[in-house]
Amino acid sequence: QGFSAGRIVQENKTRYVVYSEYGLLTGELTGKLLYTSQSPADLPKVGDWVVISVFEQEQKAIIHEVLKRKTCFSRKVPGAKVEEQIIATNIDLLFIVQSLDQSYNIRRLERYLVMAHESGARPVVVLNKSDLCHNLEEKLTEVKASAGNVPVVALSCLEDNVSIKLAPYLQPGITIAFTGSSGVGKSSLINQLAGEKRLETGLVRSVDSKGRHTTTHRELLLLENGVILIDTPGMRELQLWQAEEGLDEAFEDISQLTLQCRFADCSHTQEKGCAVLAAIDAGELLPERYQSFLKLQKELNYLSVKTDIHS
Ligand code: GDP
Ligand code: ZN
Repeated sequence: QGFSAGRIVQENKTRYVVYSEYGLLTGELTGKLLYTSQSPADLPKVGDWVVISVFEQEQKAIIHEVLKRKTCFSRKVPGAKVEEQIIATNIDLLFIVQSLDQSYNIRRLERYLVMAHESGARPVVVLNKSDLCHNLEEKLTEVKASAGNVPVVALSCLEDNVSIKLAPYLQPGITIAFTGSSGVGKSSLINQLAGEKRLETGLVRSVDSKGRHTTTHRELLLLENGVILIDTPGMRELQLWQAEEGLDEAFEDISQLTLQCRFADCSHTQEKGCAVLAAIDAGELLPERYQSFLKLQKELNYLSVKTDIHS
């Protein structure tokens, strides 16, 4: 009673922008939330649903509580402060954007898939710049082989109506985020999906801690069709992850094979009776895919060791 629901649009230290039924509000944490949080990770992040009390006159919200997160993207940088780790939350769909030009890299795509599976969000591979690709069918076959059950959509921001191509995913209430290397076309995609609206209302005016007026891009956008887009700088270049679950899902073919290795602790590098090596010899598994798997597995081990030390 007396409380409303809000969603975090932007976060900058302890200053927030909150979206609510009263529109955009500036948000502040209650002292209780600020000082009793077990860890900075418990404080609101972009995408979080929060319990607020609203002071409509001042367009202000007091944030009392963060509701349980459905999904969570975090960056596990060894040695980093905890509050730097959570990037965005409550993302339903992750568009992994790659472009079909010279920057196309199937191994990088596999890394993104691992990270998506890890987060709990459903990934969709978006292959942009199809206008620059002369062997589209070939590329699609290759990508689908790596993507497994993950849907793959090829399009061109210059030629296609992106909203039509992505229509099956644009359901009211769904929250979509974007990741992929710089230059693949994430902004172009977001601009097309958001239409002109982004240009009008995409900016948030605020006063920073030194009293300067600043305008920044909103990191959460509610579209007319009820779709919510999250576009935070951190989501754009996500690359690190921790748990192995994501690796197994993204390389399901290899994890199935590992079950058939003769030794339970097989490292899949030299053992006799290794089903993975046998599959490579038989031409059933691409050596590059295997190398990529080994490399990611090594990084994961490194990261989890680091994390253990840290905690
Ligand atoms: P971001 O860094 O991922 O946000 O990428 P941008 O959206 O800024 O796009 C990078 C460049 O690629 C820009 O010059 C865009 O005009 C161009 N671009 C975006 N989509 C396409 C496409 O479908 N085809 C072609 N040929 N160029 C595109
Ligand atoms: Zn093996």
